[in-house]
Amino acid sequence: MTFVADCMLGRLAKWLKILGFDVLYFSKAEDPDLVAIARREGRVLLTRDTGLIEKEAKRPNRLFVRGDDWEDQVVQVLDDLGLWDEVRPNTRCIACNLPLKALSRERARNLVTPYVGEHAASFAICPGCERVFWQGTHHGDMEKKIARLLARRPVLPSGD
Ligand SMILES: [Zn+2]
Repeated sequence: MTFVADCMLGRLAKWLKILGFDVLYFSKAEDPDLVAIARREGRVLLTRDTGLIEKEAKRPNRLFVRGDDWEDQVVQVLDDLGLWDEVRPNTRCIACNLPLKALSRERARNLVTPYVGEHAASFAICPGCERVFWQGTHHGDMEKKIARLLARRPVLPSGD
């Protein structure tokens, strides 16, 4: 499932990308353009604009985002669209929206701080902007936020 987010949802768009989802976001875009992109590319339109939802009422491929808080917004998207199993943190560039490529520790060492080069569990690089991403240092603010988000996954009753 891929997305296009409206102008009011910059942080949501960024965080969905951090969690691995393909999200198009433009800080300035007209509603008809967003609707056209969603249709043409088969993307789900994420919007805070009730007018846009009403205009598009007969179309299934849009989601009205309720909350103002980005964490609540991320949880709503994952809940409403059943996407918790598809979360893959740190697999997509938040700038280019491109899937990252794995990077060996050997190569990463020249591109990150010594601490990260030593302690991160894995590394990846964006084929577009060549920014390096990593996970598993258990140190960064972003990793804490990811952990906090994943902790909000609803617990399903177990079968036994
Ligand atoms: Zn990039």
